[in-house]
Amino acid sequence: MDQRTGCAHILRTRLVSPKAGLPSAFFSSRRIRPQLPKEKIEGCHICTSVTPGEPQVLLGKDKAFTYDFVFDLDTWQERIYTTCMGKLIEGCFEGYNATVLAYGQTGAGKTYTMGTGFDMSISEEEQGIIPRAISHLFSGIEERKRAARSQGVAAPEFKVSAQFLELYNEEILDLFDSTRDPDARHRKSNIKIHEDASGSIYTTGVTSRLISSQDELIQCLKQGALSRTTASTQMNVQSSRSHAIFTIHLCQTRVCARPELVRCAPASWPGCSWVPYPGDA
Ligand code: ADP
Ligand code: MG
Repeated sequence: MDQRTGCAHILRTRLVSPKAGLPSAFFSSRRIRPQLPKEKIEGCHICTSVTPGEPQVLLGKDKAFTYDFVFDLDTWQERIYTTCMGKLIEGCFEGYNATVLAYGQTGAGKTYTMGTGFDMSISEEEQGIIPRAISHLFSGIEERKRAARSQGVAAPEFKVSAQFLELYNEEILDLFDSTRDPDARHRKSNIKIHEDASGSIYTTGVTSRLISSQDELIQCLKQGALSRTTASTQMNVQSSRSHAIFTIHLCQTRVCARPELVRCAPASWPGCSWVPYPGDA
């Protein structure tokens, strides 16, 4: 799609059941961002139109593309969150793994939608998916603890941890590694990507930060986002040519009357990943 006349990116969400054999659910959504002032000044035209009542985008007059959801130029950030994301966070409390992948060309609006452009000041209503998800996650934790107390049962305990990786020129960088030397990019990192017998992908050697509050997680996200490799391009000065993967692990423990029944999910279950790809977030 011509970047100057109807810039759009795709958000793919995936919900994976913790129970073996149950199918995963995929959703694919397309968001079209409004024209930037520069594009208006240059007289660029909008070449996309959304078919009323259908999740379909028309490119020009005759090329139609259908998705699970389509968000036209004037869609608010909150609507994107409630339509595509809210259920994923609720699913994490039920033991599901959820992944959100944003992809599209530079300038298409991935960073804006994901909400990791911390170098600009944005209003609360412009907040993107990840800050909203973090707030949802922590309010969900509080809600569940309150509900248990009001029912007179032991409140569940939650452990939240986060990882933030960047893929840059096929190198994996750990954005939470405070000892990381920016000049040592060419050296091989200790991070390894593996696949287990069931086909699940996991990493080793990645810094995992234990998080105790919503503010702390936002600070970690901010710090990682700012330490990302950035390379300005003509299209978008905030852009980078890297891919970022932000992962939150949620561990829920319920105390039972019989100690042998206490169960804790493995650190990687359930979890959420946000993968703005390719380009940047
Ligand atoms: P990408 O990360 O895909 O390269 P950005 O998210 O940086 O693109 O978006 C490019 C520009 O467009 C930024 O200035 C951003 O603020 C603006 N933008 C993107 N999406 C929207 C939107 N839905 N509403 C208003 N401005 C947007
Ligand atoms: Mg970006």
